Amino acid sequence: MRYQGIPVQKGVVIGYVSKGQVSFEKHADSERVDADDERMRFFDALLEYESQMKAVAHNAPGKEASDIVRAQIMIARDQVFSDEVLEGIDSGLKAEAAVDIACQKYELKLKESGNEIFEERSRDLLEVKSGIISAMEGTAEAMAPCGDPAPDESANPEAGPDKKGLTGDILISDTLSVAQIIGLKGSPIRAVVLNTGTGSSHAAVILRSMGIVSVLGAGIDIEKLVPSVECIVDGETGEVIISPADVEREWYARKIKEREIEKSLEMIHDAKELPHATSDGERINVFCNLGTDDLPDYIRLSDGAGLVRTEILFAQRNGFPSEDIQAAIYAKIADSFPHKNAVIRLLDIGGDKTYGMYGDELPKSLRGKDSEENPALGIRGIRVLLDDTELLKCQLTALLRASYGRNISILIPMVTSVSEIRKVKQLTSECMEQLDKRRVSYDKDIKIGCMIETPAAVLNAEMIAKEVSFFSIGTNDLSQYIMCADRGNSAVSKLCNIYQNPVLRSVKIICDSAAKFGIPVTVCGEAAAQTDVLPFFIGAGIRSFSVAPASVYEVKTAISRLALSSCKKLVEIVLEESDDGKIREILN
Ligand code: PEP
Ligand code: MG
Repeated sequence: MRYQGIPVQKGVVIGYVSKGQVSFEKHADSERVDADDERMRFFDALLEYESQMKAVAHNAPGKEASDIVRAQIMIARDQVFSDEVLEGIDSGLKAEAAVDIACQKYELKLKESGNEIFEERSRDLLEVKSGIISAMEGTAEAMAPCGDPAPDESANPEAGPDKKGLTGDILISDTLSVAQIIGLKGSPIRAVVLNTGTGSSHAAVILRSMGIVSVLGAGIDIEKLVPSVECIVDGETGEVIISPADVEREWYARKIKEREIEKSLEMIHDAKELPHATSDGERINVFCNLGTDDLPDYIRLSDGAGLVRTEILFAQRNGFPSEDIQAAIYAKIADSFPHKNAVIRLLDIGGDKTYGMYGDELPKSLRGKDSEENPALGIRGIRVLLDDTELLKCQLTALLRASYGRNISILIPMVTSVSEIRKVKQLTSECMEQLDKRRVSYDKDIKIGCMIETPAAVLNAEMIAKEVSFFSIGTNDLSQYIMCADRGNSAVSKLCNIYQNPVLRSVKIICDSAAKFGIPVTVCGEAAAQTDVLPFFIGAGIRSFSVAPASVYEVKTAISRLALSSCKKLVEIVLEESDDGKIREILN
Protein backbone atom coordinates (compact mmCIF):
# COMPACT_ATOMS: atom_id res chain seq x y z
CA MET A 1 0.00 0.00 0.00
CA ARG A 2 1.54 3.34 -1.09
CA TYR A 3 0.98 6.72 0.55
CA GLN A 4 2.21 10.13 -0.57
CA GLY A 5 3.21 12.66 2.05
CA ILE A 6 5.40 15.73 2.34
CA PRO A 7 9.11 14.89 2.21
CA VAL A 8 10.89 16.48 5.18
CA GLN A 9 14.23 14.82 5.79
CA LYS A 10 16.09 13.01 3.00
CA GLY A 11 17.07 9.36 3.06
CA VAL A 12 15.48 5.96 2.52
CA VAL A 13 14.70 3.54 5.33
CA ILE A 14 13.48 -0.02 4.93
CA GLY A 15 12.28 -1.29 8.29
CA TYR A 16 9.33 -2.19 10.48
CA VAL A 17 6.44 -0.14 11.78
CA SER A 18 6.17 1.08 15.33
CA LYS A 19 2.63 2.28 15.63
CA GLY A 20 2.20 5.62 17.33
CA GLN A 21 -0.83 7.05 19.00
CA VAL A 22 -3.87 8.28 17.14
CA SER A 23 -3.90 11.63 18.91
CA PHE A 24 -2.29 13.05 22.02
CA GLU A 25 -5.19 15.37 22.77
CA LYS A 26 -6.42 14.98 26.34
CA HIS A 27 -10.11 15.11 27.17
CA ALA A 28 -10.99 16.35 30.61
CA ASP A 29 -14.22 15.49 32.45
CA SER A 30 -15.92 18.17 34.48
CA GLU A 31 -17.29 16.59 37.66
CA ARG A 32 -17.51 18.99 40.62
CA VAL A 33 -14.59 18.90 43.06
CA ASP A 34 -12.85 20.64 45.97
CA ALA A 35 -11.26 23.86 44.65
CA ASP A 36 -8.26 23.88 47.05
CA ASP A 37 -7.26 20.33 46.06
CA GLU A 38 -7.57 21.20 42.38
CA ARG A 39 -5.46 24.35 42.76
CA MET A 40 -2.70 22.25 44.37
CA ARG A 41 -2.96 19.63 41.62
CA PHE A 42 -2.63 22.37 38.98
CA PHE A 43 0.47 23.97 40.56
CA ASP A 44 2.13 20.58 41.14
CA ALA A 45 1.43 19.62 37.53
CA LEU A 46 2.86 22.94 36.28
CA LEU A 47 6.10 22.31 38.19
CA GLU A 48 6.28 18.72 36.98
CA TYR A 49 5.59 19.75 33.37
CA GLU A 50 8.20 22.50 33.51
CA SER A 51 10.89 20.18 34.85
CA GLN A 52 10.08 17.57 32.18
CA MET A 53 10.25 20.20 29.46
CA LYS A 54 13.56 21.59 30.77
CA ALA A 55 14.99 18.10 30.37
CA VAL A 56 13.55 18.00 26.85
CA ALA A 57 15.10 21.42 26.05
CA HIS A 58 18.42 20.13 27.36
CA ASN A 59 18.28 17.22 24.88
CA ALA A 60 17.05 19.37 21.98
CA PRO A 61 19.15 19.07 18.80
CA GLY A 62 20.33 22.66 18.42
CA LYS A 63 19.14 26.14 19.23
CA GLU A 64 16.12 26.23 16.94
CA ALA A 65 14.67 23.12 18.58
CA SER A 66 15.39 24.25 22.14
CA ASP A 67 13.78 27.65 21.39
CA ILE A 68 10.60 25.83 20.34
CA VAL A 69 10.56 23.90 23.63
CA ARG A 70 11.27 27.04 25.68
CA ALA A 71 8.40 28.83 23.93
CA GLN A 72 6.09 26.06 25.16
CA ILE A 73 7.44 26.45 28.70
CA MET A 74 6.73 30.19 28.46
CA ILE A 75 3.10 29.52 27.51
CA ALA A 76 2.69 27.28 30.58
CA ARG A 77 4.30 29.93 32.81
CA ASP A 78 2.13 32.76 31.52
CA GLN A 79 0.35 34.53 34.37
CA VAL A 80 -2.79 35.26 32.36
CA PHE A 81 -3.02 31.53 31.50
CA SER A 82 -2.69 30.55 35.20
CA ASP A 83 -5.32 33.13 36.19
CA GLU A 84 -7.70 31.70 33.59
CA VAL A 85 -7.17 28.17 34.94
CA LEU A 86 -7.64 29.26 38.57
CA GLU A 87 -10.80 31.11 37.63
CA GLY A 88 -12.15 27.90 36.09
CA ILE A 89 -11.24 25.91 39.18
CA ASP A 90 -12.96 28.52 41.42
CA SER A 91 -16.09 28.17 39.34
CA GLY A 92 -16.16 24.46 40.30
CA LEU A 93 -14.26 22.82 37.44
CA LYS A 94 -11.76 19.98 37.85
CA ALA A 95 -8.18 21.19 37.16
CA GLU A 96 -7.98 19.24 33.89
CA ALA A 97 -11.18 20.84 32.57
CA ALA A 98 -10.01 24.30 33.70
CA VAL A 99 -6.72 23.87 31.75
CA ASP A 100 -8.69 22.66 28.74
CA ILE A 101 -11.01 25.66 28.76
CA ALA A 102 -8.20 28.18 29.39
CA CYS A 103 -6.36 26.78 26.37
CA GLN A 104 -9.48 27.05 24.25
CA LYS A 105 -9.74 30.75 25.13
CA TYR A 106 -6.10 31.26 24.11
CA GLU A 107 -6.79 29.50 20.86
CA LEU A 108 -9.71 31.84 20.18
CA LYS A 109 -7.47 34.86 20.78
CA LEU A 110 -4.87 33.49 18.39
CA LYS A 111 -7.53 33.01 15.74
CA GLU A 112 -8.79 36.57 16.21
CA SER A 113 -5.26 37.94 15.82
CA GLY A 114 -5.30 36.60 12.23
CA ASN A 115 -1.61 35.85 12.53
CA GLU A 116 -0.15 33.59 9.85
CA ILE A 117 1.73 31.46 12.34
CA PHE A 118 -1.51 30.75 14.19
CA GLU A 119 -1.45 27.07 13.16
CA GLU A 120 1.88 26.38 14.84
CA ARG A 121 1.04 28.41 17.96
CA SER A 122 -2.22 26.53 18.42
CA ARG A 123 -0.32 23.24 18.09
CA ASP A 124 2.04 24.49 20.79
CA LEU A 125 -0.99 25.21 22.97
CA LEU A 126 -2.34 21.72 22.38
CA GLU A 127 1.00 20.23 23.36
CA VAL A 128 1.21 22.36 26.50
CA LYS A 129 -2.32 21.35 27.47
CA SER A 130 -1.59 17.65 26.96
CA GLY A 131 1.68 17.92 28.87
CA ILE A 132 0.09 19.60 31.90
CA ILE A 133 -2.89 17.25 31.98
CA SER A 134 -0.58 14.21 31.70
CA ALA A 135 1.45 15.56 34.61
CA MET A 136 -1.79 15.94 36.64
CA GLU A 137 -2.71 12.38 35.89
CA GLY A 138 0.73 11.30 37.00
CA THR A 139 1.63 9.89 33.57
CA ALA A 140 4.53 10.87 31.35
CA GLU A 141 2.39 9.85 28.37
CA ALA A 142 2.86 13.15 26.59
CA MET A 143 6.55 12.40 26.30
CA ALA A 144 6.10 8.78 25.14
CA PRO A 145 5.63 8.37 21.42
CA CYS A 146 3.83 5.03 21.16
CA GLY A 147 0.40 3.85 22.03
CA ASP A 148 0.25 0.29 20.76
CA PRO A 149 3.12 -2.00 21.53
CA ALA A 150 1.46 -5.25 20.43
CA PRO A 151 3.56 -6.75 17.63
CA ASP A 152 2.06 -8.67 14.74
CA GLU A 153 3.44 -12.20 14.78
CA SER A 154 3.46 -12.43 10.98
CA ALA A 155 5.61 -9.36 10.56
CA ASN A 156 9.10 -8.64 11.87
CA PRO A 157 9.95 -11.85 13.72
CA GLU A 158 12.61 -10.23 15.89
CA ALA A 159 10.42 -7.34 16.91
CA GLY A 160 9.26 -6.87 20.45
CA PRO A 161 8.47 -3.66 22.27
CA ASP A 162 11.45 -1.87 23.80
CA LYS A 163 11.17 0.20 26.94
CA LYS A 164 9.51 3.06 25.06
CA GLY A 165 6.94 0.66 23.58
CA LEU A 166 8.61 0.74 20.16
CA THR A 167 8.13 -2.42 18.14
CA GLY A 168 9.98 -1.35 14.99
CA ASP A 169 12.34 1.28 13.66
CA ILE A 170 9.82 3.32 11.64
CA LEU A 171 7.44 5.32 13.81
CA ILE A 172 4.08 6.04 12.16
CA SER A 173 1.74 8.24 14.15
CA ASP A 174 -1.11 10.65 13.63
CA THR A 175 0.90 13.28 15.39
CA LEU A 176 3.86 13.70 17.74
CA SER A 177 4.54 16.54 20.11
CA VAL A 178 7.83 18.43 20.03
CA ALA A 179 8.76 16.74 23.32
CA GLN A 180 7.96 13.30 21.94
CA ILE A 181 10.11 13.85 18.87
CA ILE A 182 13.07 15.02 20.93
CA GLY A 183 12.45 12.01 23.19
CA LEU A 184 13.27 9.76 20.21
CA LYS A 185 16.94 10.62 20.64
CA GLY A 186 18.80 7.41 21.42
CA SER A 187 15.82 5.23 20.40
CA PRO A 188 16.00 2.69 17.55
CA ILE A 189 13.69 4.87 15.41
CA ARG A 190 15.28 5.61 12.02
CA ALA A 191 12.28 7.15 10.27
CA VAL A 192 9.15 9.04 11.30
CA VAL A 193 5.89 9.32 9.37
CA LEU A 194 3.14 11.63 10.65
CA ASN A 195 -0.33 12.31 9.35
CA THR A 196 -0.18 15.92 10.57
CA GLY A 197 2.32 18.68 9.92
CA THR A 198 3.81 20.50 6.97
CA GLY A 199 7.34 21.08 5.73
CA SER A 200 7.67 24.14 7.93
CA SER A 201 5.94 22.88 11.09
CA HIS A 202 7.80 22.58 14.39
CA ALA A 203 7.76 18.80 13.98
CA ALA A 204 9.53 19.19 10.61
CA VAL A 205 12.10 21.63 12.02
CA ILE A 206 13.02 19.25 14.82
CA LEU A 207 12.99 16.07 12.72
CA ARG A 208 15.30 17.76 10.24
CA SER A 209 17.70 18.94 12.90
CA MET A 210 17.75 15.42 14.37
CA GLY A 211 18.46 14.05 10.87
CA ILE A 212 15.63 11.51 11.14
CA VAL A 213 14.30 10.45 7.72
CA SER A 214 10.75 11.76 7.76
CA VAL A 215 7.53 12.29 5.85
CA LEU A 216 4.62 14.39 7.16
CA GLY A 217 0.98 14.70 6.08
CA ALA A 218 0.96 11.06 4.99
CA GLY A 219 -2.76 10.28 5.52
CA ILE A 220 -2.33 6.74 6.90
CA ASP A 221 -5.15 5.11 8.85
CA ILE A 222 -3.29 4.50 12.12
CA GLU A 223 -6.13 2.47 13.66
CA LYS A 224 -5.84 -0.11 10.87
CA LEU A 225 -2.05 -0.14 10.88
CA VAL A 226 -0.47 -3.43 11.98
CA PRO A 227 2.49 -2.90 14.31
CA SER A 228 5.78 -4.43 13.16
CA VAL A 229 4.67 -4.74 9.54
CA GLU A 230 7.40 -4.05 6.95
CA CYS A 231 7.59 -0.51 5.58
CA ILE A 232 9.68 1.73 3.32
CA VAL A 233 10.00 5.48 3.84
CA ASP A 234 11.50 7.70 1.14
CA GLY A 235 12.29 11.06 2.70
CA GLU A 236 13.20 12.51 -0.67
CA THR A 237 9.98 11.84 -2.58
CA GLY A 238 7.59 11.61 0.41
CA GLU A 239 6.55 8.07 -0.47
CA VAL A 240 5.63 5.59 2.25
CA ILE A 241 5.05 1.95 1.31
CA ILE A 242 3.46 -0.42 3.82
CA SER A 243 4.03 -4.15 3.15
CA PRO A 244 6.17 -3.53 0.04
CA ALA A 245 6.34 -6.02 -2.82
CA ASP A 246 9.67 -7.75 -3.51
CA VAL A 247 10.41 -5.51 -6.50
CA GLU A 248 9.76 -2.39 -4.45
CA ARG A 249 12.04 -3.59 -1.66
CA GLU A 250 14.79 -4.46 -4.16
CA TRP A 251 14.48 -1.08 -5.90
CA TYR A 252 14.79 0.84 -2.64
CA ALA A 253 17.62 -1.38 -1.41
CA ARG A 254 19.49 -0.42 -4.57
CA LYS A 255 18.74 3.22 -3.92
CA ILE A 256 20.18 2.93 -0.41
CA LYS A 257 23.30 1.28 -1.80
CA GLU A 258 23.70 4.08 -4.36
CA ARG A 259 23.49 6.65 -1.54
CA GLU A 260 26.22 4.84 0.37
CA ILE A 261 28.41 4.80 -2.72
CA GLU A 262 27.73 8.50 -3.28
CA LYS A 263 28.87 9.24 0.25
CA SER A 264 32.07 7.26 -0.19
CA LEU A 265 32.73 9.00 -3.53
CA GLU A 266 32.68 12.35 -1.82
CA MET A 267 35.80 11.20 0.03
CA ILE A 268 37.86 10.72 -3.15
CA HIS A 269 39.65 13.96 -3.82
CA ASP A 270 41.57 13.41 -7.02
CA ALA A 271 39.95 12.00 -10.17
CA LYS A 272 43.44 11.07 -11.37
CA GLU A 273 43.47 8.40 -8.68
CA LEU A 274 40.92 6.47 -10.75
CA PRO A 275 41.86 3.98 -13.45
CA HIS A 276 41.30 5.03 -17.08
CA ALA A 277 42.10 1.84 -19.00
CA THR A 278 41.86 -1.93 -19.12
CA SER A 279 44.65 -3.95 -17.50
CA ASP A 280 46.39 -4.15 -20.91
CA GLY A 281 46.27 -0.41 -21.41
CA GLU A 282 43.25 0.17 -23.68
CA ARG A 283 41.87 3.61 -22.85
CA ILE A 284 38.15 3.53 -21.89
CA ASN A 285 36.10 6.62 -21.01
CA VAL A 286 33.41 6.61 -18.37
CA PHE A 287 31.05 9.56 -18.67
CA CYS A 288 28.03 10.31 -16.56
CA ASN A 289 24.30 10.47 -17.30
CA LEU A 290 22.58 13.59 -15.99
CA GLY A 291 18.99 14.75 -15.58
CA THR A 292 19.62 17.80 -13.46
CA ASP A 293 21.87 20.85 -13.40
CA ASP A 294 22.16 20.56 -9.63
CA LEU A 295 25.29 18.45 -9.86
CA PRO A 296 27.03 16.50 -7.11
CA ASP A 297 30.70 17.22 -6.52
CA TYR A 298 31.80 13.71 -7.53
CA ILE A 299 30.86 14.19 -11.20
CA ARG A 300 34.50 15.31 -11.48
CA LEU A 301 35.44 11.60 -11.25
CA SER A 302 33.87 11.06 -14.69
CA ASP A 303 35.36 11.85 -18.10
CA GLY A 304 32.50 14.20 -18.98
CA ALA A 305 28.73 14.17 -19.45
CA GLY A 306 27.80 11.32 -21.82
CA LEU A 307 24.05 11.87 -21.79
CA VAL A 308 22.14 14.88 -20.52
CA ARG A 309 18.43 14.03 -20.57
CA THR A 310 16.89 17.44 -21.27
CA GLU A 311 13.34 16.10 -20.84
CA ILE A 312 14.13 15.64 -17.15
CA LEU A 313 15.74 19.08 -16.90
CA PHE A 314 12.61 20.60 -18.42
CA ALA A 315 10.20 18.57 -16.27
CA GLN A 316 11.92 19.95 -13.18
CA ARG A 317 10.99 23.39 -14.45
CA ASN A 318 7.41 22.33 -15.25
CA GLY A 319 7.59 23.18 -18.92
CA PHE A 320 9.83 24.32 -21.72
CA PRO A 321 12.35 26.94 -20.66
CA SER A 322 12.97 29.91 -22.95
CA GLU A 323 15.98 29.95 -25.29
CA ASP A 324 17.89 32.18 -22.84
CA ILE A 325 17.22 29.94 -19.87
CA GLN A 326 18.08 26.80 -21.82
CA ALA A 327 21.35 28.32 -23.04
CA ALA A 328 22.25 29.20 -19.44
CA ILE A 329 21.44 25.67 -18.19
CA TYR A 330 23.50 24.00 -20.94
CA ALA A 331 26.41 26.37 -20.33
CA LYS A 332 26.27 25.67 -16.60
CA ILE A 333 26.39 21.90 -17.17
CA ALA A 334 29.25 22.14 -19.69
CA ASP A 335 31.18 24.44 -17.34
CA SER A 336 30.93 21.76 -14.64
CA PHE A 337 33.17 19.58 -16.82
CA PRO A 338 36.18 21.76 -17.60
CA HIS A 339 38.24 20.43 -20.55
CA LYS A 340 35.75 17.59 -21.02
CA ASN A 341 32.82 17.02 -23.38
CA ALA A 342 29.11 17.38 -22.51
CA VAL A 343 26.73 15.43 -24.78
CA ILE A 344 23.31 17.04 -24.52
CA ARG A 345 20.37 15.11 -25.91
CA LEU A 346 17.48 16.82 -27.68
CA LEU A 347 14.16 16.54 -25.89
CA ASP A 348 13.01 12.91 -25.75
CA ILE A 349 9.36 12.89 -24.70
CA GLY A 350 6.42 10.66 -25.53
CA GLY A 351 6.26 6.90 -25.02
CA ASP A 352 6.73 5.99 -21.39
CA LYS A 353 8.07 9.48 -20.76
CA THR A 354 4.66 10.87 -19.88
CA TYR A 355 4.02 14.34 -21.01
CA GLY A 356 1.51 15.31 -18.32
CA MET A 357 4.36 17.05 -16.54
CA TYR A 358 4.70 19.60 -19.34
CA GLY A 359 1.26 21.03 -18.57
CA ASP A 360 -0.18 23.34 -21.22
CA GLU A 361 3.11 23.70 -22.99
CA LEU A 362 3.01 20.43 -24.90
CA PRO A 363 4.43 20.35 -28.40
CA LYS A 364 1.82 20.60 -31.15
CA SER A 365 1.75 16.90 -31.95
CA LEU A 366 0.95 15.90 -28.39
CA ARG A 367 -1.52 18.63 -27.55
CA GLY A 368 -5.03 17.48 -26.63
CA LYS A 369 -3.93 13.87 -26.20
CA ASP A 370 -3.73 12.45 -22.73
CA SER A 371 -1.97 9.42 -24.04
CA GLU A 372 -1.64 7.42 -27.22
CA GLU A 373 -3.02 3.96 -27.90
CA ASN A 374 0.41 2.45 -28.34
CA PRO A 375 2.73 5.10 -26.94
CA ALA A 376 6.06 3.28 -27.27
CA LEU A 377 5.41 3.11 -31.02
CA GLY A 378 3.81 6.52 -31.25
CA ILE A 379 4.94 10.11 -31.37
CA ARG A 380 8.12 10.09 -29.36
CA GLY A 381 11.64 11.53 -29.34
CA ILE A 382 12.74 13.12 -32.60
CA ARG A 383 9.24 12.59 -34.06
CA VAL A 384 7.84 15.09 -31.55
CA LEU A 385 10.51 17.63 -32.40
CA LEU A 386 10.17 17.31 -36.16
CA ASP A 387 6.43 17.87 -35.74
CA ASP A 388 7.10 21.05 -33.81
CA THR A 389 10.13 22.62 -35.43
CA GLU A 390 9.77 25.85 -33.43
CA LEU A 391 10.43 23.87 -30.27
CA LEU A 392 13.35 22.06 -31.90
CA LYS A 393 14.87 25.27 -33.27
CA CYS A 394 14.60 26.90 -29.87
CA GLN A 395 16.55 24.03 -28.30
CA LEU A 396 19.11 23.88 -31.13
CA THR A 397 19.70 27.63 -30.93
CA ALA A 398 20.15 27.46 -27.15
CA LEU A 399 22.61 24.58 -27.55
CA LEU A 400 24.55 26.46 -30.23
CA ARG A 401 24.76 29.58 -28.09
CA ALA A 402 26.03 27.55 -25.11
CA SER A 403 28.55 25.76 -27.32
CA TYR A 404 30.64 28.89 -27.92
CA GLY A 405 33.96 28.38 -26.10
CA ARG A 406 32.71 25.09 -24.65
CA ASN A 407 32.85 21.46 -25.61
CA ILE A 408 29.20 20.57 -26.25
CA SER A 409 27.78 17.89 -28.59
CA ILE A 410 24.19 17.36 -29.65
CA LEU A 411 22.51 13.94 -29.46
CA ILE A 412 19.34 13.00 -31.41
CA PRO A 413 16.94 10.56 -29.66
CA MET A 414 14.75 7.74 -31.05
CA VAL A 415 16.04 7.89 -34.59
CA THR A 416 14.60 5.43 -37.12
CA SER A 417 15.69 6.94 -40.43
CA VAL A 418 18.50 8.84 -42.12
CA SER A 419 16.05 11.51 -43.22
CA GLU A 420 15.33 12.45 -39.59
CA ILE A 421 19.02 13.17 -39.09
CA ARG A 422 19.24 15.18 -42.29
CA LYS A 423 16.28 17.29 -41.20
CA VAL A 424 17.90 18.01 -37.82
CA LYS A 425 21.14 18.96 -39.56
CA GLN A 426 19.24 21.21 -41.97
CA LEU A 427 17.45 22.94 -39.07
CA THR A 428 20.77 23.30 -37.21
CA SER A 429 22.21 25.11 -40.25
CA GLU A 430 19.18 27.40 -40.32
CA CYS A 431 19.67 28.18 -36.62
CA MET A 432 23.34 28.94 -37.30
CA GLU A 433 22.36 31.37 -40.06
CA GLN A 434 19.94 33.09 -37.70
CA LEU A 435 22.65 33.38 -35.05
CA ASP A 436 25.02 34.83 -37.64
CA LYS A 437 22.39 37.48 -38.43
CA ARG A 438 22.03 38.15 -34.70
CA ARG A 439 25.85 38.32 -34.47
CA VAL A 440 25.84 35.66 -31.78
CA SER A 441 28.84 33.31 -31.58
CA TYR A 442 28.67 29.52 -31.49
CA ASP A 443 30.84 26.48 -32.13
CA LYS A 444 30.80 26.14 -35.93
CA ASP A 445 32.14 22.56 -35.68
CA ILE A 446 29.64 21.36 -33.10
CA LYS A 447 29.28 17.57 -33.29
CA ILE A 448 25.92 15.92 -33.86
CA GLY A 449 25.45 12.30 -32.80
CA CYS A 450 22.59 9.87 -32.82
CA MET A 451 21.01 7.47 -30.33
CA ILE A 452 20.93 3.94 -31.71
CA GLU A 453 18.01 2.41 -29.89
CA THR A 454 15.57 1.18 -32.52
CA PRO A 455 15.81 -1.89 -34.79
CA ALA A 456 15.59 0.42 -37.81
CA ALA A 457 18.64 2.37 -36.65
CA VAL A 458 20.59 -0.86 -36.07
CA LEU A 459 19.80 -2.14 -39.55
CA ASN A 460 20.65 1.22 -41.09
CA ALA A 461 23.63 1.88 -38.82
CA GLU A 462 26.12 2.14 -41.70
CA MET A 463 24.03 4.70 -43.55
CA ILE A 464 23.47 6.65 -40.36
CA ALA A 465 27.18 6.50 -39.52
CA LYS A 466 27.89 8.53 -42.68
CA GLU A 467 25.69 11.33 -41.36
CA VAL A 468 26.80 11.74 -37.74
CA SER A 469 29.93 12.22 -35.63
CA PHE A 470 29.16 9.56 -33.00
CA PHE A 471 26.72 6.88 -31.86
CA SER A 472 25.24 6.41 -28.43
CA ILE A 473 23.55 3.07 -27.75
CA GLY A 474 20.42 3.35 -25.61
CA THR A 475 20.25 -0.19 -24.28
CA ASN A 476 16.99 0.48 -22.42
CA ASP A 477 15.05 1.19 -25.59
CA LEU A 478 17.16 -1.09 -27.74
CA SER A 479 16.17 -4.07 -25.54
CA GLN A 480 12.53 -2.97 -25.56
CA TYR A 481 12.26 -2.54 -29.32
CA ILE A 482 14.43 -5.50 -30.37
CA MET A 483 12.59 -7.87 -28.03
CA CYS A 484 9.12 -6.29 -28.51
CA ALA A 485 8.82 -6.15 -24.73
CA ASP A 486 7.72 -2.95 -22.97
CA ARG A 487 10.54 -1.65 -20.73
CA GLY A 488 7.98 -0.56 -18.13
CA ASN A 489 6.05 -3.82 -17.96
CA SER A 490 7.41 -6.19 -15.32
CA ALA A 491 5.44 -9.07 -16.87
CA VAL A 492 7.87 -9.05 -19.82
CA SER A 493 11.04 -8.08 -17.95
CA LYS A 494 12.44 -11.56 -18.59
CA LEU A 495 12.51 -10.60 -22.26
CA CYS A 496 13.44 -6.95 -22.03
CA ASN A 497 17.04 -7.20 -20.88
CA ILE A 498 20.59 -6.99 -22.15
CA TYR A 499 21.29 -10.74 -21.90
CA GLN A 500 19.21 -11.53 -24.97
CA ASN A 501 21.28 -12.65 -27.94
CA PRO A 502 19.47 -10.36 -30.44
CA VAL A 503 20.19 -7.33 -28.24
CA LEU A 504 23.88 -8.15 -27.85
CA ARG A 505 24.13 -9.01 -31.55
CA SER A 506 22.67 -5.58 -32.32
CA VAL A 507 25.38 -3.99 -30.18
CA LYS A 508 28.02 -5.81 -32.25
CA ILE A 509 26.41 -4.69 -35.53
CA ILE A 510 26.37 -1.09 -34.30
CA CYS A 511 30.05 -1.26 -33.25
CA ASP A 512 31.10 -2.77 -36.58
CA SER A 513 29.18 -0.14 -38.55
CA ALA A 514 30.70 2.67 -36.51
CA ALA A 515 34.21 1.23 -36.87
CA LYS A 516 33.79 1.08 -40.66
CA PHE A 517 33.19 4.83 -40.74
CA GLY A 518 35.58 5.69 -37.92
CA ILE A 519 33.10 7.13 -35.46
CA PRO A 520 33.10 6.43 -31.70
CA VAL A 521 30.30 4.59 -29.86
CA THR A 522 29.15 5.09 -26.27
CA VAL A 523 26.75 2.85 -24.34
CA CYS A 524 24.50 5.07 -22.27
CA GLY A 525 21.60 2.80 -21.22
CA GLU A 526 21.37 1.19 -17.78
CA ALA A 527 23.33 -1.84 -19.01
CA ALA A 528 26.46 0.33 -19.15
CA ALA A 529 26.64 0.07 -15.37
CA GLN A 530 26.15 -3.71 -15.33
CA THR A 531 29.73 -4.69 -14.70
CA ASP A 532 29.17 -8.29 -15.84
CA VAL A 533 28.32 -7.05 -19.36
CA LEU A 534 31.31 -4.67 -19.65
CA PRO A 535 33.68 -7.34 -21.07
CA PHE A 536 31.20 -8.03 -23.88
CA PHE A 537 30.81 -4.34 -24.69
CA ILE A 538 34.56 -3.72 -24.71
CA GLY A 539 35.21 -6.84 -26.77
CA ALA A 540 32.58 -5.69 -29.26
CA GLY A 541 34.35 -2.36 -29.71
CA ILE A 542 32.84 0.04 -27.19
CA ARG A 543 35.39 2.49 -25.75
CA SER A 544 33.02 4.81 -23.85
CA PHE A 545 30.30 4.25 -21.30
CA SER A 546 27.91 6.70 -19.73
CA VAL A 547 26.43 5.80 -16.35
CA ALA A 548 24.80 7.41 -13.31
CA PRO A 549 27.37 9.59 -11.48
CA ALA A 550 27.28 7.23 -8.49
CA SER A 551 28.34 4.30 -10.71
CA VAL A 552 31.37 5.93 -12.38
CA TYR A 553 33.83 4.73 -9.76
CA GLU A 554 32.55 1.14 -9.78
CA VAL A 555 32.56 0.93 -13.59
CA LYS A 556 36.08 2.40 -13.91
CA THR A 557 37.39 -0.05 -11.33
CA ALA A 558 35.71 -3.01 -13.04
CA ILE A 559 37.20 -1.97 -16.42
CA SER A 560 40.71 -1.80 -14.97
CA ARG A 561 40.43 -5.51 -14.11
CA LEU A 562 39.63 -6.55 -17.70
CA ALA A 563 42.02 -7.47 -20.50
CA LEU A 564 40.99 -6.42 -24.02
CA SER A 565 42.24 -9.69 -25.55
CA SER A 566 39.96 -11.87 -23.40
CA CYS A 567 37.03 -9.48 -23.92
CA LYS A 568 37.31 -10.01 -27.68
CA LYS A 569 37.22 -13.81 -27.30
CA LEU A 570 34.22 -13.56 -25.02
CA VAL A 571 32.14 -11.81 -27.72
CA GLU A 572 32.37 -14.81 -30.04
CA ILE A 573 31.43 -17.24 -27.25
CA VAL A 574 28.44 -15.15 -26.15
CA LEU A 575 27.04 -14.63 -29.64
CA GLU A 576 27.08 -18.38 -30.31
CA GLU A 577 24.67 -18.86 -27.39
CA SER A 578 20.95 -18.29 -27.93
CA ASP A 579 19.68 -18.83 -24.37
CA ASP A 580 19.67 -15.71 -22.19
CA GLY A 581 20.11 -17.80 -19.03
CA LYS A 582 23.30 -19.33 -20.46
CA ILE A 583 24.53 -15.90 -21.58
CA ARG A 584 24.08 -14.64 -18.04
CA GLU A 585 26.09 -17.59 -16.77
CA ILE A 586 28.92 -16.97 -19.26
CA LEU A 587 29.07 -13.27 -18.37
CA ASN A 588 29.05 -13.95 -14.67
C1 PEP B 1 18.06 4.28 -23.44
O1 PEP B 1 17.02 4.13 -24.05
O2 PEP B 1 18.83 3.34 -23.14
C2 PEP B 1 18.48 5.64 -23.01
C3 PEP B 1 19.68 5.87 -22.55
O3 PEP B 1 17.60 6.62 -23.07
P1 PEP B 1 16.29 6.73 -22.14
O4 PEP B 1 16.42 5.72 -21.04
O5 PEP B 1 16.26 8.13 -21.67
O6 PEP B 1 15.19 6.39 -23.10
MG1 MG C 1 16.02 5.77 -24.98
